[in-house]
This record gives sequence, structure tokens and C-alpha cells, in this order.
Amino acid sequence: MADCVFCSVIEGRLPGSFVYRGDEAVAFLDLFPVHPGHLLIVPRLHVEDLVSCPPGVAGQLFELSAKLAPAVVRATEAAGFNVWTANGKAAGQEVFHLHLHLLPRFEDDTFGLRFPKSYPQEAGRAELDAMAETIRSEM
Ligand SMILES: [Zn+2]
Repeated sequence: MADCVFCSVIEGRLPGSFVYRGDEAVAFLDLFPVHPGHLLIVPRLHVEDLVSCPPGVAGQLFELSAKLAPAVVRATEAAGFNVWTANGKAAGQEVFHLHLHLLPRFEDDTFGLRFPKSYPQEAGRAELDAMAETIRSEM
């Protein structure tokens, strides 16, 4: 897509600092890193989100995150890392071309997801079973 920033980076119309270029996916550094080494793993195919991504390509993104994470951790001397993806505006997605964030983490780095005020509250088994049934009925 011509107006997609990630397609533009992949196609060389915008600059990118690439760590990996494969047939199905690429990895380049986030222009607005949470921490140095914050990597984006992006399919070459323009798909909006995980749901619209062919399963084989989605699998490759996760395999690539496992392949690249040790190098990111060594290069940044991180204490750990997160792999996550935002799907939909409510989930924090800002660029609507599927991407995984590979984010190096450090002790007390102050970054994190915020839990709701009600958390943690253990769910009842009946409630969990009912939700599991509802999800299964949607599959
Ligand atoms: Zn795109």
C-alpha cells in the first residue's frame, strides 16, 4: 500500500535501520524506541492485523522473534524482552500493518502494561467454563 509507512520502509521509500531481511518478513528498529534496540518484526505482505495474516506468515513472525531476541538482548545487555503485538485501536495499534514489537527490558525500566484497578481477582470456575464455552462457540 502506497500510504502505509511500513510498506514504504520495506520498499525503500522511507529509511529503515534493518536487522533482518527475509522473503516473508523483515525486522527494523522502531523510529520511536521505548528502549534502544526496540525492534519491529514486520511481514512483507501488507496485512492489517494478526487475524488477516496468513497463518504461515504469522508463524514465521514468531519464529523470527525467537531467532532475533538473543542478538537483541546481547547487543543491548538487556535483562529480558517482551514480544507483543497490538491489534486494533483499542489495543494500542497505531500503524495498521501487522507488526511484532521485540522490546528489550531492563530491571526497573518503568515500562509496562497497566492492569485494571480490580486486578488481581481470581475468577470462579463456572465463570471461566462459561467463557470458554462462549469462545468455542465462536470458533
Ligand atoms: Zn503496509
